[in-house]
Amino acid sequence: MKKGKNGVYNRLVLRVRKDLCLGCGLCAQNCPRQAIWLFGEQAEIDQNRCNLCRLCIEVCPQGAIVEVVPVSKDELQATVIALRQRTDDLIERIERLRHSKLISASFTKEA
Ligand code: SF4
Ligand code: SF4
Repeated sequence: MKKGKNGVYNRLVLRVRKDLCLGCGLCAQNCPRQAIWLFGEQAEIDQNRCNLCRLCIEVCPQGAIVEVVPVSKDELQATVIALRQRTDDLIERIERLRHSKLISASFTKEA
C-alpha cells in the first residue's frame, strides 16, 4: 500500500477489469515501473511496483484499469451500521419537524 496524506489514499490500488481488458499491452508498454504484465490476453498489475502514476489509466483504450480501495468485511459492516444510524437520526428529525409544523398549523386555525 502507498503512503498518502489520508487513510483512503494509503489504501488505493489499481485493478484491471477482466471484462474490459483486451490484452493489447498498451498499459504495459507505457508503465514506467514495469509493473504490468500480460498473462495471456489479460493485464495484471504488480502492486508492489506500482507508484500510482496513473499513466496506464490514461492510455488504456478500454477504460479497463480502475482505482479501488479494498475494504474489509468488518469495515463494510461498520460503515453500514453508521449509515443506518444517520438515516434513523434524519428520519427522527424529519418526524419531529413535521409534528411541530402540524401543531403550529392547528394553532393558526384555532386563532
Ligand atoms: S491497455 Fe487496457 S485493454 Fe490494453 S492490456 Fe492494458 S488494461 Fe488491457
Ligand atoms: S499507475 Fe503507473 S506505475 Fe502503476 S501500473 Fe499504472 S503506469 Fe505502472
